[in-house]
Amino acid sequence: MKVLVINCGSSSLKYQVLEMDDNTLLAKGLVERIGIEGSVIKHEKIGMDKFVLEVPMESHKDAIGHVIDALTNADHGVVADMNEIGAVGHRVVHAGEKYANSVLVTEEVMKALDACVDLAPLHNPPNILGIRACQELMPNTPMVAVFDTAFHQTMPESSFLYALPYEYYEKHGVRKYGFHGTSHKYVAERAAAMLGKNLEDINVITCHLGNGGSIAAVKKGKCFDTSMGFTPLAGLVMGTRSGNVDAAVLDFIAKKENMTLEEVTNVLNKKSGVYGLSGVSSDFRDIEDAAKSGNHRAELAEEVFIQRVKFYIGAYLAEINGADAIVFTAGLGENGISMRERICANMDNIGIKLDAAKNNVRGKETVISADDSKIKVLLIPTNEELMIARDTAEIVNAL
Ligand code: ADP
Repeated sequence: MKVLVINCGSSSLKYQVLEMDDNTLLAKGLVERIGIEGSVIKHEKIGMDKFVLEVPMESHKDAIGHVIDALTNADHGVVADMNEIGAVGHRVVHAGEKYANSVLVTEEVMKALDACVDLAPLHNPPNILGIRACQELMPNTPMVAVFDTAFHQTMPESSFLYALPYEYYEKHGVRKYGFHGTSHKYVAERAAAMLGKNLEDINVITCHLGNGGSIAAVKKGKCFDTSMGFTPLAGLVMGTRSGNVDAAVLDFIAKKENMTLEEVTNVLNKKSGVYGLSGVSSDFRDIEDAAKSGNHRAELAEEVFIQRVKFYIGAYLAEINGADAIVFTAGLGENGISMRERICANMDNIGIKLDAAKNNVRGKETVISADDSKIKVLLIPTNEELMIARDTAEIVNAL
């Protein structure tokens, strides 16, 4: 079965077509600037040069129309017509407490996603638009929703409750949800395969370190805790997000800087993290370059970031009574050689020891710990699209 995977943002849309009979990627692409001047689709049939078309796209429906044109094009397309696509898998950010697994899209599911807009006002609306547009343009193709929050639904109450008045949880759903779940699940499964064990038999700490970052404690194959929270602002220091801060800081800054709470939250989301600390960039490569050339604040940003990662690894080792493996994934986790080295430095007493030569690698599934490291350290490139396509094919095949 061929599966189209769609990841819809507010003004962008990423897509892939995968052949699930042999897990191969046939085509991928990106639509940018939807609803803004300069809309463009960048499409790539695997093995061919990129096809780029700048054409006005007012809506997500226009964008999906152009994706369909590209996929069925005689030159750079991968199907003769869209009926060859057996199912569409949609990445959806938030399912609240409603879904712990991927689901076939029905009107009831759409209602549930609408109900979660409050919880993810920036992410769920474009996800919903993407599903609606596909439903209109491909009315006979089954659709599946795959949620970022789903994998984390196994967290016990002791992990997901905040120590706030309990009624805020009951009335408003204020709790930790966690994000990047598809990625954490994918790399945890790959880790089990690399260790030659069943996922249910191992403990893994998965470090998804990209522009946004989160860490999950996976106990006997199930998520036990994760660093992101009610929103993706919590936990690690990120590109522009602060991660955890003392909540009292918000009111303090609001008064001192004459800002509303909303404005302060915006600063925490968009102007903080390694960007805010360094004043240099949100990109870890720029931070590393600046630090190397002696920029003290860039060095500090790296140190604060590294210490926070160590904090979660230590905390999660304690929470789940040790781990078989620690996994690094996503942009920085897959490519940041010196960052991985610095995160794992001085942890040999708790069983983590990297092998410098093995760690000198990028973007490849491999073991990077020393042979005598009690806890294996693994580098696993994430593949959220493959995970979405797998869930989608599995659900649709069972219909
Ligand atoms: P997201 O999907 O959250 O936008 P990615 O997973 O693509 O982010 O990761 C992007 C980040 O990965 C960049 O901000 C960059 O800092 C980091 N990164 C990518 N390549 C390298 C590299 N070679 N060395 C260090 N960091 C890198």
